[in-house]
Amino acid sequence: MPELPEVETIACGLRPQLTGRRIVSVAVRNEGTVQGDAAAFARCVPGRVIAGVGRRGKLLLLELVPLDGAAGRADAAGPAGVAVDAPSDVPPDAADLMTCRDAAGKMAGSSATGAAGASGNTGNTGNTVSTGSAGGNRVPHLLGVHLKMTGRLFVYGPEVAPNTHTRVIFGLDDGNRLFFDDARKFGYVRALSEADLATWDFWRSLGPEPLEIAAPDFAALFRGRRGRIKALLLDQTVIAGIGNIYADESLFRASIRPDAQAGELSPDRLRVLHGHLVDVLRESIAECGSSIRDYRDAHGDAGAFQNRFRVYGRSGQPCVACGRALTTGKVAGRTTVFCEHCQKLK
Ligand SMILES: [Zn+2]
Repeated sequence: MPELPEVETIACGLRPQLTGRRIVSVAVRNEGTVQGDAAAFARCVPGRVIAGVGRRGKLLLLELVPLDGAAGRADAAGPAGVAVDAPSDVPPDAADLMTCRDAAGKMAGSSATGAAGASGNTGNTGNTVSTGSAGGNRVPHLLGVHLKMTGRLFVYGPEVAPNTHTRVIFGLDDGNRLFFDDARKFGYVRALSEADLATWDFWRSLGPEPLEIAAPDFAALFRGRRGRIKALLLDQTVIAGIGNIYADESLFRASIRPDAQAGELSPDRLRVLHGHLVDVLRESIAECGSSIRDYRDAHGDAGAFQNRFRVYGRSGQPCVACGRALTTGKVAGRTTVFCEHCQKLK
């Protein structure tokens, strides 16, 4: 599954292709790929303009704004932003918007009462998309895409036909199309209104962003916690965006065994772990992510961070630090590679 650096890389690749583009059509080819009400999704997303591309944890986010609110937002995207064409055909009129508001409300559950609660988990740096309201708390203003195991997002010219794995097609006002392809169908797309964000357990439970949290706050996440450090790093409600690769790599660099009890690690060691976690994530983003199995970025290119793995996928090979054979075990149900000599339980 793509982790934080891979999703960040995909977002960076899509940003210049999508920012400022108006979505003119949505074709849902597999209803199971759309979370929530698929009919409302297909009715409410067309007509909206993509004002930015970001992510939260491993969730890729397209920021949606109404056409009349798009001009200023596209400018804010900087040089990568594409100017918004003023199309001659009209955006959804007021009546359509009301329908969308109603539909999004149903999607979010009838008990949704407002936007309160959505802001608490919102990232506040350039990495993540603002969840500021773009008009009405039930109008979708974010499109969430979770790639899971095999999901891919590509922008193609109009001459490219969908394949058997193409689950959703977004038509764009420049004639290109954004395909969401997903061979194994674990991935999903979801239109998110303020009300939906306030009631969507997955969103509400996401832990802090590792590249945004300060080291002492990171250390505090594990104070008194039961469980092995790797299991907690993989737990998206503790910290968002980390998977098997970056858990193993950061723990190796920090000389901490993956099966160490988190609550028994000193704050100093946890601060060191945070430093290495930030380093591996940033190094991987700089290398356009890690390409294992079929990960590709928004341009179809493979990343290169897999060439820098020190433990992940190196079972039985010599430790880069001490030369002894690396050990393989299971931690949190996941294959885990570490050095018994260099990594310590406390
Ligand atoms: Zn070693």
